[in-house]
Amino acid sequence: MIVIGGGLAGLAAGVALADSGWRVRLFELRPFLGGRATSYVLPDGEHVDNCQHVTFGCCTNLDDFYRRVGCSSSIRFFDRLVLLDPQGRRGGLQAGFLPAPLHILGSFVSFRPLSVWDKLSIGRAMLDILLAKGSPVDVRVSPPISMLDWLHRRHQTKRAIDRFWRVVLVSALSEELDRVDARYGVDVFWKTVLSNRTGYRMGVPTLPLADLYDGCRKSIEQKGGEVNLRAPVRKLNFSGSALASVLFDGQRVETADAYILALPHAATEELLPEAIKNSDPALSQIARIKDASITGVHFWFDRPVMDEPYLTLLDTTTQWIFNKTVLYANPNADSGQYLQLVISASHDLLQKSRQEIIDLCLAEVRHALPRARKAQLLKATVIKEAAATFSPEPGVDRWRPTQRTSVPNLFLAGDWTATGWPATMEGAVRSGYLAAEAVLNSAGTPKNYLQPDLPPDGLVALWLGK
Ligand SMILES: Cc1cc2nc3c(=O)[nH]c(=O)nc-3n(C[C@H](O)[C@H](O)[C@H](O)COP(=O)(O)OP(=O)(O)OC[C@H]3O[C@@H](n4cnc5c(N)ncnc54)[C@H](O)[C@@H]3O)c2cc1C
Repeated sequence: MIVIGGGLAGLAAGVALADSGWRVRLFELRPFLGGRATSYVLPDGEHVDNCQHVTFGCCTNLDDFYRRVGCSSSIRFFDRLVLLDPQGRRGGLQAGFLPAPLHILGSFVSFRPLSVWDKLSIGRAMLDILLAKGSPVDVRVSPPISMLDWLHRRHQTKRAIDRFWRVVLVSALSEELDRVDARYGVDVFWKTVLSNRTGYRMGVPTLPLADLYDGCRKSIEQKGGEVNLRAPVRKLNFSGSALASVLFDGQRVETADAYILALPHAATEELLPEAIKNSDPALSQIARIKDASITGVHFWFDRPVMDEPYLTLLDTTTQWIFNKTVLYANPNADSGQYLQLVISASHDLLQKSRQEIIDLCLAEVRHALPRARKAQLLKATVIKEAAATFSPEPGVDRWRPTQRTSVPNLFLAGDWTATGWPATMEGAVRSGYLAAEAVLNSAGTPKNYLQPDLPPDGLVALWLGK
C-alpha cells in the first residue's frame, strides 16, 4: 500500500491500514510529518507551530486518532471560552449545571459584550436550529445560501452577527460569513453547543504540533511499513484504467497494490493526468474548490503580559491570542512570554507586509493587555498561509470527490474530499479513515474506522428519543 502525503489524512489512513495488517509505505514531501497541522524550528532555534491548532469535544475521529497514536494526553481540554471587547469587558461562555441544550444559557445571559436584544435574536435563531434537529429546511435548499443570508433571514442584530456568529464561525470555518455555506455554519452550533454538553470543550496541544506524530511512524513501522520523508511524488503512471506506479526524484519508481493520494486539493489536481480527470466527473471539478487564508503572528515579550491560556478578542483584526508559555507549561515562564495570535479568513492581510501586520497586531495586543504596554517585544514572526483551508463557500460540497475513485486501485484522502466536515483536523482524519475503509472494502476485508458523532444528551436526547 502506498500513501502519498504525511498530513493528518495520510497518517490516519496509514495508521488504520497498518492496524488492518497492510504494509504501508508513506511518502511525504517535507522533512517532517503533520502537513498543515505541524511545527518546525526557526533559524534562531525557536519551535513554532505552523499556526495554533485547536480541536473540540465534537471531533470524535481526531480524538480516536490521537488515542491510537498515543498522544491524547498531550491535548489539554478547557471548559471556558473567554472573550474580551475593546472596552475591556470580559464575557465567558461555559457549561453550567443545566442539561443540554440549556447548559450554556447561564453564562450566555450574563455575557456582557452583548445587549439583551442581541441575545434574544441569537436565542431565536438557536431555537430554530434546535427545533429542526440541526438541519433547518433553508440549509438544505438548492441553490445553497450563505450563512450571512441565513442570519439575515432570522433578523439577527448587527452586533449579534459581529460579536457572536462571526466570532465563532470565522474561527471554526476560516471564512467570512457571506462565503460560508449555511449548512456548515448551522452544523457548528448543532454539534458544539446545542446537541450535547461537551462538544464545545476546546482542546489545545501542550507540545509543538510535530511532536504529536511520533506514534504514527511507530504504528506503521511496527507492521513492516515505512515512512519516507523528503520524498515528493513527481508523477503518477497509469496503465489502462489502473495506477501502475509512482515516480520520485532520481527516476525512482515504486509500485503497490493500492494507492492513497492524501494531498491538498491543488496538489492532487496537478498530479492527476488530464485523461484521468476527464474520464471521471468527480475528479474533473477539483479545480473549482477555492482556498481560504489564515495568518499566525508570533510575539515573544520580555515579561509575562497575560495570565489566561487564551483569549478571544472582539472587534479587532486579531481574533485569538494563545499564551504558548502557559499552554506549554514552560518553566521559564517568569522570564518572558510567547504569544501566538490567529487571524482566520485573513484575505486582507495577504497584501500587507509582515511589519505592517506586526504593528497592527501589536497595537491591538497592547490595547487588550495593559501589561504588554510596558513590555518589550523581543522578536516577532508572521506566517501567512494563503491556502490554509478550502473555502466552505455555498455549494462547495458538489466539487468534493469521495475517497473511492473510478480508478479501481486509486483512493483519495484530504480534508477537502467528501467528509461532510469543513477543512479541519477532524475532517482530515475522517477522510483518512474513509479512504482506509474504501481500500479494505475493495479488498473484500471490510472494517470500520469512522467514529460516530457525539450522541445528543440531556433534554435533547430525551426529545429525540435517544
Ligand atoms: C494556519 C492554519 C490554521 C489551522 N487551524 C486549525 C485548527 O485550529 N483546527 C483544525 O481542526 N484545523 C485547522 N487547520 C486545518 C488543518 O490544518 C487541516 O484541515 C488539516 O491539517 C489538513 O490535513 P490533510 O492531511 O488533509 O492535508 P495536509 O496537512 O496539507 O497534508 C498533505 C501533505 O501532503 C504533502 N505533499 C504535498 N505534495 C506532495 C507530493 N507531491 N509528494 C508527497 N507529499 C506531498 C504535504 O507536504 C503535506 O504534508 C488549520 C490550517 C492552517 C493552515
